[in-house]
Amino acid sequence: MSYLVLARKSRPRNFDQVVGQVPVVKTLQNSLIRNRVAHAIMFSGVRGVGKTTLARIMAKAINCENRTAGNPCNKCPSCLEIDSGSALDIYEIDGASNRGIQEIRELKEKIRFLPTSIQFKIIIIDEVHMLTTEAFNGLLKTLEEPPDHVFFMFATTELHKIPITILSRCQRYELKRVSAKDLGSHLTKLAADEGITMEQAALDLIVRESEGSVRDGLSLLDQVFSYGEKDIVVNDVIQVLGLVSRDIILRLTTALLSKDPAAALLALEDTFDFGVDLKRFTTDLLTAFRTLILCKLQGCDELIDIPPQELQVFQDLSKNYSRETIHMKMTLLMQGVEEMRYSSQPRLSLETTFLKIIQADDILPVSTLLGKMDALLADNPLPASPQQKTGKKPAAEKKKQLPPEPRPEPGVKETKKETVPPPRSFSMAPKDAPPAANEASPPSEEQPPLPEEPYKQTEKPKTQNQTAPPDTKGKTIPHPHEHDVRKDWHKFIEHVKDRKLWMAQDLQRAASSREKNGELQLTFLETENCALLRQKDNVKLLTEFVLDFFQKNLKLRFITPDKDIEDGKNGDDSPHKLRQKLANDPLVQMATEIFNGQIGDIRVGPRSR
Ligand SMILES: [Zn+2]
Repeated sequence: MSYLVLARKSRPRNFDQVVGQVPVVKTLQNSLIRNRVAHAIMFSGVRGVGKTTLARIMAKAINCENRTAGNPCNKCPSCLEIDSGSALDIYEIDGASNRGIQEIRELKEKIRFLPTSIQFKIIIIDEVHMLTTEAFNGLLKTLEEPPDHVFFMFATTELHKIPITILSRCQRYELKRVSAKDLGSHLTKLAADEGITMEQAALDLIVRESEGSVRDGLSLLDQVFSYGEKDIVVNDVIQVLGLVSRDIILRLTTALLSKDPAAALLALEDTFDFGVDLKRFTTDLLTAFRTLILCKLQGCDELIDIPPQELQVFQDLSKNYSRETIHMKMTLLMQGVEEMRYSSQPRLSLETTFLKIIQADDILPVSTLLGKMDALLADNPLPASPQQKTGKKPAAEKKKQLPPEPRPEPGVKETKKETVPPPRSFSMAPKDAPPAANEASPPSEEQPPLPEEPYKQTEKPKTQNQTAPPDTKGKTIPHPHEHDVRKDWHKFIEHVKDRKLWMAQDLQRAASSREKNGELQLTFLETENCALLRQKDNVKLLTEFVLDFFQKNLKLRFITPDKDIEDGKNGDDSPHKLRQKLANDPLVQMATEIFNGQIGDIRVGPRSR
């Protein structure tokens, strides 16, 4: 019993039988019809897409005596001779094993003479990029002035390795991967011809495995056919080809996204039961995440080359998660896969990665990150003033302060104050709210009552808070201890530090500060250094700190190298520039590092305020 492998049995004998490659085939046929075939043709593309197949059909078509519509007849003596493989004037050379100058010299010797039995000599060099430089140079002269009776057909998987001098003398055809649809219908037809029925999912799997290579598809089909069943189901394919079932990949992807560690580890366990190659498996998993991201992008449907039923499942899954979250998890997975490759315990390494991905939180907006940052800074303050030390409290309690609560109306102030225990309220200021663009920015009204003379009253903040609620709009109240902006600037920064640590740090970056014409003018040498301060909510807060401390209602003016900008406005800052500044802000960068996060989105403009 002789069994002809599918690849040989189904080899296309004319252009019409070629799978895919429609534009190339059409161009080649037209060149034959018009008798304008180039004497040197270069076919490039990945393995198994039809490069040598097309070269062989061209060899026949060029020589065919009864060519119709550019197709060889496959009946004339010339066609039959070439098909049988006995044509002496067709040279098929493997560039990998005949790569030296000597082989090229012999070849050139052969083509000097006219063909013996057919009309043209055809030289087919497969994997032509393997030729040595000398060999290429040897070919160059012949390609410049090819004899009329000779045609060269080159095939390569690595076009970039071909010297440009050679390329420029060839007509080039780039062959594409065959689409899943084309390959699927081709394989279905072949299966039917063999009297074998295949479950759609089984066929889909083979098509996916082939990655657009017809030859790979055929050899996979051969393997599955050898399994011996007349009805092939998906599990046969999985078993024969040693693949991970799509079901496991999908289960795992879902578990990683929905933060289900047990399901993720069980799915991995099942994979091991299958005895699957880990590298292979992780590639499949990454591909699944890629598909999810593509599902989230508009107009990327063409990039997703998976069967429609499977696509639907991915589309449904992707709807539950943001693009940022999927992207973040995919990045972690890629890092984990990379680590796994160098690990002596690949499975353990992969399990760790899964847990890391599951623990990773969804992407947070910058404002939330900055809020957390404030809390963290409050836990680990810089060299602190006495007030800060007295204001310390357990970390757990502080966490409760996040996220900031909506601001109360000014009128509610008094009641609100009473409900907050004094010691706690006193330490709230430095950490209770994100400073960045955020609607829930800390309202000054909610600030703990500030001591009217902070530096004298640190000893007994409790009584101060309870007994002397300050009037934050107290510009009308004359005060005996007015501070001077120039003289008391450092004290003011200390004052701010206890209430809003980051703001104090930013204020310290000011090159100078002065009071002029009812304004507090702050000069910054770097525009970015006051980007955060200049945001509307922060300007408001700072204005109130100024009022509290200096007992003056001063308007803030930021003077920067570009332009001095009035409080609360963005000046000439485009949203794009502002975003860039925010992203580059040291605080943001520190926050992203601490939380191992990424900046998912930065919103500027009216909505964010
Ligand atoms: Zn013919």
